[in-house]
This record gives sequence, structure tokens and C-alpha cells, in this order.
Amino acid sequence: MRLRRLICHLLFGAGKLAYPYVMISLTDAHCHLQDPAFAGEMNTIIDRAKNFGIRRFVVNGTCPEDWSKVEDLAKNHSEVLPQFGVHPWKVADLPVNWMEKLKGYLLRFPLAGLGEIGLDRKLTDAPISQQIEIFRQQVELACEYHRPCTFHIVKAWEEFWSVLKEQAPEKFLLHSFRGSAEQVKAFEGYEAYFSFGGAVLRHPNSKKMAAALQAVPEDRMLLETDAPYQHPQGLRVRQEPAGLLVIAEKSAEIRGERLETVLKNCEANAAQLFGAPPFTGLSESKF
Ligand SMILES: [Zn+2]
Repeated sequence: MRLRRLICHLLFGAGKLAYPYVMISLTDAHCHLQDPAFAGEMNTIIDRAKNFGIRRFVVNGTCPEDWSKVEDLAKNHSEVLPQFGVHPWKVADLPVNWMEKLKGYLLRFPLAGLGEIGLDRKLTDAPISQQIEIFRQQVELACEYHRPCTFHIVKAWEEFWSVLKEQAPEKFLLHSFRGSAEQVKAFEGYEAYFSFGGAVLRHPNSKKMAAALQAVPEDRMLLETDAPYQHPQGLRVRQEPAGLLVIAEKSAEIRGERLETVLKNCEANAAQLFGAPPFTGLSESKF
């Protein structure tokens, strides 16, 4: 176990080598295993993650072009829980039948949620009016089909709230949450979950992030890698789901909780949000 721990830290971020190897099954609440960065290596990537206890991968589509890849992954790997959606960076040039296609994927995968969807005023030039229109339609669909949503919201909180106040999905995840503690509190009354990723390691001295992480109730927190993006040390190399434990370790430290407690809570929360049963051990499990 010592060797595994050491390899994990060397590959995915140098922590304090402090955590005990935790025999618990974990969910990477947000990643993109369909990305070309992982082409031809899926078995290796999944096996490597399993060595560190990560046994469920919530794989988010981003546009009609990659939904079929997400579908193939879900069919070929029982560990993959697919999500389908149009990412705010991909709203331009959508095919006219995108909504019909999206409905088809959701009907074929009864546990699939809408993801990754959202609004972004910083990292894309896509007009915000167009983003809002596509986002609103997807939120409506989530409500109609009673599915959870995974939201990407960057510098567009005002627009986000205006859509959410019209119609809110029953459950939703604020992925890679970078808001404040006050924003966490604003979600009281919603079944809102917050996931934290490599940013907790990239910005270890951010008081805002620490306050937000501490403000999230224990039954609303999840962990994610956003692989292949968001390497925890900001390196221009791909992140992998196997890096989840290093993020978990730092998150637990910031919250002042035991790692085991954080892992157990996050796993139960993933099950609650995505409607998939929690894993109860390291035995093979299907959802
Ligand atoms: Zn993502």
C-alpha cells in the first residue's frame, strides 16, 4: 500500500503522504473520459483509478459530437455513469435536431443527467444570450425528465439565478465550485451539491475557496478531477481520475475533517445526487 500511495503522489500531486490508504469505493463526480487525451487507454486509466478506490466515473458529454463516445464508454464500462449536455463553450453551430438527439440519449440511459451545461462569461466568446437560450432549454428538459444537472458557471451568476428562479431541477451539481461561502448559503432551499477539484491544490492559500469549502454542508459535498483538465499542480499534462484522493486529502485538511469521513460522505452524496446506489466495498458492483 505504501508503494501505491507514493506512486499516486508522484503522478498526481505531491501531498504530505499523510493519508492512510482508504479501503472505500469512490466516485469521480465529474470527468471527461471521452476526451481524445485518453484514446486507446481506457482500460489502463480505469484500472489505475480502481487501484486507488475510484470505481465510478461520472462522464460528462459536451456537445452532440461527443455524446456517442460517452454512450460507447457507458456501454463498455459498467463503472461509467454518463451525462449528456451542451457545454456553454459549444453552443455555436448546433445541429437543428440537437434537442431531439439529447432526449434520445436520456431515454436510452435512465440514470443519465444533463451535463455539462451552464453559462460562462469568461472563458468563451459565445454570446451570453445564445448560452442562456440553450441552457434554459436543457434545464427545462431536466425538470421534465426528472434528471439531475451538472452546472458549469463562470462569472455568470446573475444570469444563472435568473434561469434557476424560473425553473430549477430537482437536484443539481455546481461542478468545480469557485464561488464564495455566501454563494453556498444562497443555495439553501435547493437540493444543490458542490464539487471540488484540482483548484484546491492549485490555490492552497485562497481564503475564499477555503471558506466556501468549509461552508458546504457535509451532505452536499462531492469530489471531482475534471480529467483530463485541471491538473492539480497546474501542469500542462492530463489529469486522471486516479488523482482524486490527493484532492480529497487537501479538501479534508481545509475542512478540518478526517479523510475517511469526507470520503464516506462524498460517496453517499454522489449516490444521492445521481440516483445510483453507493458502493459498499471493493466488490464489483453495477448500478
Ligand atoms: Zn468538465
